[in-house]
Amino acid sequence: MATTMSRRTVLAGTAAGVLGATIGAGRSEAAAGGVTAVTGVTVFDAVGGVRRGQNVLVRGDRVLDAGDLRRVPVPHGARVVDGRGKFLIPGLADMHTHATEIDPRDPELYAVNGVTTVRQMSSSDAVREWRAQIAAGARLGPQLIVGSAIVDGAPSLWEGLGVPHLAVADAAQARAAVREQAAAGADFIKTYTRLTSGSFHAIAAEADRLGIPFLGHVPDFVPVTDASDAGLRSIEHLFEFWYDTSRDERRLRREIARIKVAGGDYAGWFTGLHPIEYAAARTYDRDKAARVFERLARNGTHVTPTLTVHWTCDVPQDVPHDDPRFRYASADTLGYWQWATENIYLKGRTPRESAERRELFVRRLRLAGALARAGVPLMTGTDLGTAYLMPGFSVHDELRLLVHAGLTPAQALRAATYEPARHLGHRDRGTIARGNVADLVLLDANPLRDIGNTTQIDSVFVRGELIDPATRQRILAEIEAAVQNKPSTGAVPAAVGCACGR
Ligand SMILES: [Zn+2]
Ligand SMILES: [Zn+2]
Repeated sequence: MATTMSRRTVLAGTAAGVLGATIGAGRSEAAAGGVTAVTGVTVFDAVGGVRRGQNVLVRGDRVLDAGDLRRVPVPHGARVVDGRGKFLIPGLADMHTHATEIDPRDPELYAVNGVTTVRQMSSSDAVREWRAQIAAGARLGPQLIVGSAIVDGAPSLWEGLGVPHLAVADAAQARAAVREQAAAGADFIKTYTRLTSGSFHAIAAEADRLGIPFLGHVPDFVPVTDASDAGLRSIEHLFEFWYDTSRDERRLRREIARIKVAGGDYAGWFTGLHPIEYAAARTYDRDKAARVFERLARNGTHVTPTLTVHWTCDVPQDVPHDDPRFRYASADTLGYWQWATENIYLKGRTPRESAERRELFVRRLRLAGALARAGVPLMTGTDLGTAYLMPGFSVHDELRLLVHAGLTPAQALRAATYEPARHLGHRDRGTIARGNVADLVLLDANPLRDIGNTTQIDSVFVRGELIDPATRQRILAEIEAAVQNKPSTGAVPAAVGCACGR
């Protein structure tokens, strides 16, 4: 467990390294009880809206106070960050990741990008180790929520591919998997695509009995509305929605049931499902969709659209391979991305299928907009671990895509801040208010005018620890140097979870 690992144990590990030393200075200041004041700043969060001319005081890991300049004076001796002309928003969340140990600097990349909450969607010893290091104060990083091994049907799409998963054939095995993963310390149970309806509902019942959340993919054989009614806490990606909202639902569900998938044949399943998914999207029925969305909104089921991964998988030919942000990715990671693009996403893809997938992506954008308009609570998530997605950076891409899909910048920011906190049951996160955890991002430009301005980061507070511009630049430079100096092993790493928003 995170809390039982001593600081010395952690520092003795290999990963603390230079970054641990870099971060230490700021932490001791916070521990001394000093106040940092962001003065004269424009604050925005999903509950209080826009508040100009605010002073926000941070002490320890909390917001000591926040309010109008006259009501909240700057205490004597406080460290002052001039917030005039700047914008302060709550820390952002990536609610869908599959981080691995391949590039071990993910926690720091999240932090400098203003991402202070990360939900890891598949079990990972590396991420649990990061969590222990962060909790021990040995390194900088976000709050980490770590899921179970993927619970899939049998045979699993992940058989033999090196992805932690459990293949359950029936309700009894499904219940046992939930018990086992809960006992192993999972924060939630992750459901997957090939579960039968019986196994899925057994997971729901057992998770309810143990009081552990279950969330993830809506299986191929379960309607979205049934999953929502059964208590699935969040639905990941957008591909599951097409069948419930199709006027051809019954016929298409029969076709899905006819797909035969061999164990580990992820690519075969991905390719085999495409014509059915495409036909379903083409027969989208707005009235039917309205009823489905109304039910999700009423149940409070969160949806993580993961538009970034849909983009990289639907139209990989559009993804630039020379993005300057890739200088923070190792040669092995770049190699994996290229391998996955060639061997999974683009393998055997005809020009016609390429055109269909492009159309599907446009339809997914419309779907995300429709979900938002119907009042279904959305959350930002990227599916990090999939090709060409970067820790932290890609959350800003997701924000932009959500706005492209029709959300206002305020709605997109809500999906990155308030909704993730509400989803996780954290009342003291996701907004900027007295007593809340001081996870904050100070921006040089107004994100409500242009959502792209979330990348104009001046400083970040991670649980009260100020990452000022100079520290931010130093951390980025250290990561770049470490990554560039790391020789390629030449090995293609195992796939890392939802290979394609799946
Ligand atoms: Zn995933
Ligand atoms: Zn997934």
